[in-house]
Amino acid sequence: MEILVLTKKINGHYMRDLIPIAIAKGDGIGPEIMEATLFILKESGSPLEIQEVEIGEKVYLRGELTGIDPSLWDVVRHSKAFLKAPITTPTGGGFKSVNVAIRTALGLYANVRPCIAYAPYVQTKHPGMNVVIIRENEEDLYMGIEYQPTRDTFEALKMMTYNGCERIIRYAFEYARTYHRKKVTCFTKDNILKFTDGLFHKVFDVIGMEYPEIEKEHWIIDIGSAKLADTPTVFDIIVTPNLYGDIISDIAAQIAGSVGLAGSANIGTAGAMFEAIHGSAPRRAGQNLANPSGLLLAAVQMLVHIGLVEKATLIQNAWLRTLEEGIHTYDIFNEKTSKEKVGTREFARAVANRLGKKPEILLPAHYAKNKASPVPKNSWSKSTKELIGVDIFIEWNSVEKELSSVLTALSHTSLQLQSIGNRGVEVWPTKLPETLCSDCWRCRYMRKEKSHSLHQDDVLSLLQLLTQHKMDIVQVHYLFIIDHQKKYSGATNED
Ligand code: NAD
Repeated sequence: MEILVLTKKINGHYMRDLIPIAIAKGDGIGPEIMEATLFILKESGSPLEIQEVEIGEKVYLRGELTGIDPSLWDVVRHSKAFLKAPITTPTGGGFKSVNVAIRTALGLYANVRPCIAYAPYVQTKHPGMNVVIIRENEEDLYMGIEYQPTRDTFEALKMMTYNGCERIIRYAFEYARTYHRKKVTCFTKDNILKFTDGLFHKVFDVIGMEYPEIEKEHWIIDIGSAKLADTPTVFDIIVTPNLYGDIISDIAAQIAGSVGLAGSANIGTAGAMFEAIHGSAPRRAGQNLANPSGLLLAAVQMLVHIGLVEKATLIQNAWLRTLEEGIHTYDIFNEKTSKEKVGTREFARAVANRLGKKPEILLPAHYAKNKASPVPKNSWSKSTKELIGVDIFIEWNSVEKELSSVLTALSHTSLQLQSIGNRGVEVWPTKLPETLCSDCWRCRYMRKEKSHSLHQDDVLSLLQLLTQHKMDIVQVHYLFIIDHQKKYSGATNED
């Protein structure tokens, strides 16, 4: 493993306090754009000690299913930040995403993607767009918990926690405060997903009260995304759960002008990873064609994160000036505003030559020291929790009437069948003939007496009874009252 000291001498002095950084050159255009980025970092005099780690295609093909060389963890954990070039994910089964593995292992809970228009130098329908998408990075459907409980049914668990929501939302408000942003908008689908997205929205409202100077609003994700694609200038910062954030941040980067220009930060309480949002563009590899701007702007975010805000400002302003002077790589070159079509290396040299200059038309960058990552306050209440029923999922290859007559004939001391559902629709005691049913039936049992507290033993004896009668149980969910509220979907007043 090579250690590269980027800056030995600054203004004639040897640097003592070099900041350790890990880098990975990745695949495809990765090595070229990393070389360009490191060149600019070096020319800027950023006091960095760089250690290279290996990820990506070569590592996958050596048999590491995560695409990560095991030595990476030690290096990255002892570095202040990790700058990662894009990698090529091999097609075919068994390979896991490098990004998801690194994010979850290192607890990088906040994904920060500034999506900024650089009109007229980069063509966009939305000049003036300047939106930062702050995406929760670990929870939601990205936990990757999936099952096939029956022959006909496939499922993925969408899981969110109070602490997970709190820290990303607090991060978004702290970010707004640090960068003097005026408004934080929350996107969820809480009209449908009342517990998971409902929690995110509720935590947004609660934490938002601590930031009275910042305007707050909430949009349902579908109409919110439509508005973002149509009129992005009405948004400032958007905070949203993982999957929505993944989708809207690509849309936002694209409509700002080019996915090739956007950098992304993955921030945790201890570590942080920075990368371009685009992929490894294998068809452009090795031709000195690729635009290094996405990775360079990710490196700027990295410099801000490690406290080198003057260097971040210096580099971003030189980059903006290069854009303004019409020195463009092929992907953003256009006859009207471009003056010179350059390759990756020439573009990097052009930026380095402009260090110390500011843009004259585009808004100059000015970074301030960021506050430490906000730590969640664990403010969830430790209130009472009572078991009142159970949803038992049964694989059954006939109609609901037969299933209900078998189940109602089986008597249990403390639990009784209340309803049967299929694909989220109640189908017993009442069902419309049009309702399509699968082989996976949700049989809801509730306690017989409201005054009777249920215990695990009650559920276990019911499961035993059903198993004795050849019921094919595929899944069990307990139904609780927490904080005096029924915490399961489809709760009724009779429960
Ligand atoms: P891509 O982003 O690599 O390429 C999409 C298009 O944009 C291509 O036409 C490409 O030529 C162009 N492009 C991308 N970056 C550019 C740049 N810096 N300069 C100039 N043009 C650029 O997306 P893809 O083709 O779907 O994916 C290629 C590989 O990258 C796949 O293996 C994919 O899994 C991987 N990928 C990796 C990451 C990552 O490491 N973070 C992210 C996305 C995709």
